Amino acid sequence: MKKSIILVFVFITALIFGQKKKVLLIGIDGLQFEQIAKVNTPNFDKFTIKKGYTGGVFGSPSQQVTSSGPSWVTILTGVWADKHGITSNSIHQVSKAKSVFKFIKSSSKLKTASVSTWKNINLLLYKDMYSVDFSTQGGNDEISIAVTVNHIKKHAPDFTFIHLDDIDHAGHAVGFGLAYSKATQKVDAQIGQLLKVIEKREKNNNEDWLILLVTDHGRDSKGKGHGNQTLTEKTIFIGMNKKGTSFFEGIDNAKKVRSLKELESFIPQTAVVSTILKYLNIDIKKEWNLEAKPLVD
Ligand SMILES: [Zn+2]
Repeated sequence: MKKSIILVFVFITALIFGQKKKVLLIGIDGLQFEQIAKVNTPNFDKFTIKKGYTGGVFGSPSQQVTSSGPSWVTILTGVWADKHGITSNSIHQVSKAKSVFKFIKSSSKLKTASVSTWKNINLLLYKDMYSVDFSTQGGNDEISIAVTVNHIKKHAPDFTFIHLDDIDHAGHAVGFGLAYSKATQKVDAQIGQLLKVIEKREKNNNEDWLILLVTDHGRDSKGKGHGNQTLTEKTIFIGMNKKGTSFFEGIDNAKKVRSLKELESFIPQTAVVSTILKYLNIDIKKEWNLEAKPLVD
């Protein structure tokens, strides 16, 4: 090899290995998977989005209501309600299972942040919130986006979770239709704001970001309520800006789903935590009892 070629090789290797890995998890409350394709969403379209399921395995001990409290705690703990113990939205309960925030803090010096428009998420995980480096709850989506954009711009935590609530509000108020679609497009623009600040950091700070999109639950056929074990209420999605495992990439969103059993062959909501840990190079310990394999290699 010529000396110049070797030098270029060394430089590229240093660049790749020196890259700091970061994760942003964007949680979008109550967004029905099929509704994304109904509106113009240039920022959603930058992700590979695959169908998944919430609500545990129907008819088994892991079955849980398709409500926000149990679902967000599943997203952030990697286990179903039979292990985390959150069975409703009430804040008079606390997760029995540790969350991704705790797993990260107990195995590394990495920094974390949690910005949740719906304050209950941080409250249901309040035991772990003490170890989170930056957290806010309440307010509204505009505030959550402004706070997160600013925090990533200045501090770029290694793991950030943001929760957005407006689409769920639109669903509960009027179901699917114009207001719901408008709320979806607004979130698309907000995702764009987050992407912009991350693109800038990747360019200037030698960082490599995994960005995940996830929702907590589906909705009934009219788009209003949720909580039951129906196909539409159990259907969720997980989106990524990176190439996934062969399981993730092989999910066929167009495959006809006629039963809950068939839906449960799609991505379990429990896969989010192991995916985050894997990307951050954190060894997944057996005693954490995570239910699902990571979605990245
Ligand atoms: Zn919800």
